[in-house]
Amino acid sequence: MIDLTGRRAVVTGAGSGIGRACAHRLAAAGAHVTVVDMDAETTGKVAAEISGTAVIADLSTPDFVDALPADADIVVNNAGFQHVAPIEEFPPEVFAKILKVMVEAPFLLVRSVLPGMYERGWGRVVNISSAHGLRASPYKSAYVTAKHALEGLSKVIALEGAPHGVTSNCVSPAYVRTPLVEKQIRAQAETHGISEDKVVEQIMLAPAAIKRLIEPEEVAELVAYLCGPHGSFITGTSLPVDGGWTAR
Ligand code: NAD
Repeated sequence: MIDLTGRRAVVTGAGSGIGRACAHRLAAAGAHVTVVDMDAETTGKVAAEISGTAVIADLSTPDFVDALPADADIVVNNAGFQHVAPIEEFPPEVFAKILKVMVEAPFLLVRSVLPGMYERGWGRVVNISSAHGLRASPYKSAYVTAKHALEGLSKVIALEGAPHGVTSNCVSPAYVRTPLVEKQIRAQAETHGISEDKVVEQIMLAPAAIKRLIEPEEVAELVAYLCGPHGSFITGTSLPVDGGWTAR
């Protein structure tokens, strides 16, 4: 039983996929959740579903953090997106934006909430990394770079936060059934001229031992565990939810 009654959580990218599942799971455990996303419609919808607070914000803009509560006890850095292209064709502005949303924004958000967490002697930072925070794949230069950087940032937060009751960890899934992955499946099916089922089976699940996509709720359960009482000694680490991909 994970009881987060009285805790205030901020979940970024909570309008969809993993972020939405995390917002639901944390709210079900009793936390008040601030749902942050740049998509106005889904942000409002998810916030209404869980009686949370909606904040519509684009994490690639420098002052987004001013719109977010600085008194959060739990931060889930989840917002992200993918761009697939060989390095020589990779648009530099897209590379920069991926780093802004997936590395700089988590840094700015954590920077703004840590003083309050330190004052209260308790905080949980969960960074949604990826198997691509631990392994590389071709054509995902910005994403792999950003997730490896997030893994590093998370460890530094863990070291600085430990004396103040703050933990920081990465949760690192392989392919989760979300709109982000469904878009990739469609694109790859088109590129390779094969069916969407074959993309999942032959390309995405090739390195995994367990041959299925992960559901967002499975990731959210681990996030909730890290925020609950049994997560208090887990810090500075990366927990793969990858069906054995990184065991190879
Ligand atoms: P998703 O596309 O379903 O949701 C991502 C959300 O982030 C969207 O609601 C989007 O509007 C929001 N977002 C994107 N850019 C933003 C910005 N600049 N400002 C505010 N909000 C923004 O994707 P998802 O699959 O749920 O991915 C969530 C996280 O999980 C990402 O960090 C992703 O890298 C990571 N992840 C996903 C998978 C997967 O297979 N789906 C695997 C490993 C890691």
